[in-house]
Amino acid sequence: MRKPDVQNIINKLNEMGAKKILLQLPDGLKPQAYDLFNALSRQFSVVISSGGFYGACDVGTYEMYSDVDCIVQLGHSIMPNVRYPKPIIFEEFFFENDLDLERISLDILSGYHNIGLLFSIQYMHLAAKVGDFLTGKGFHPIIGKQDERMAYPGQVIGCNFSSAHSISGEVDCYLVVSTGKFHAIGVQLSADKETFILDVNEMRIVSMKDETDRFLRKRYAKISRAVDAKNICVVADTKIGQYRIKLAELLMKQATSLGLNPILLKADDVKPSDYENLRCDAVVFTGCPRVSIDDEDKFSMPILTPPEFQSLFKIKSPGRYVMDEITAVDNMP
Ligand code: SF4
Repeated sequence: MRKPDVQNIINKLNEMGAKKILLQLPDGLKPQAYDLFNALSRQFSVVISSGGFYGACDVGTYEMYSDVDCIVQLGHSIMPNVRYPKPIIFEEFFFENDLDLERISLDILSGYHNIGLLFSIQYMHLAAKVGDFLTGKGFHPIIGKQDERMAYPGQVIGCNFSSAHSISGEVDCYLVVSTGKFHAIGVQLSADKETFILDVNEMRIVSMKDETDRFLRKRYAKISRAVDAKNICVVADTKIGQYRIKLAELLMKQATSLGLNPILLKADDVKPSDYENLRCDAVVFTGCPRVSIDDEDKFSMPILTPPEFQSLFKIKSPGRYVMDEITAVDNMP
């Protein structure tokens, strides 16, 4: 990963006349915190958020940003349909290594022609190169249009696969340029179509089918534990790009009409002990979909996404697993 372009950040801050800034770093960039702080402090009053920021959906709480002119968040791209509370600079940075694509075997893609090309933001600059490579080998790569939550065509994040949906009728399979498997599993499940990952660390293309089957087995085992739940916590996360209070209220109504005993909660920090103290049987979480999935083992009770809850209690019966996706959020009060 290359270093953030500090001069570019300084130029943008000067253009907006900022004096006091809040700097937000993903955990992978925290080791550079001293260098960044010192470089920016020559011109600006800087404070760094110590917490983790996993996406542009999270710019911290009012207490953190109330007395700054600008937030600088590194590593993520803007969510165009989120109403941020302060001017924000999203400084993206990209995977640095050049790819020797000729090393990659394409045998696994034989039988496919139209390939939906997707990427996570760190690999966006490689999309054209991968597309040219595929074209040169006789494939037809297609990059899908994103919805208003996403900044770039072809981009996927853990809660939004709109770039895949927009071309689902045109492609035979998807190829996700990434390293982590979650995005590719998400594409396979949400688009219900064969998906491969071009793993840029391992320089190989791998089918997501076995991973997706494993994911589903584990997930269904977890979800089924909630079938006898009575006391439910329905949680709205107050992070600005995760705030779905209307969905939480709808889930409250649905749970009540089923004869369950739901309570509505707001939270910024999702701690398993909070729900243990509440003695709830299951949590339905409307914030980041990855919390229910990545952190499931931290919770002693099942923690479900909204579609999982609606499917388990037969409010909706889509006949297959539905990924929770965020397309838009509610405005914060
Ligand atoms: S809601 Fe979750 S998956 Fe979506 S951008 Fe935020 S951290 Fe990533």
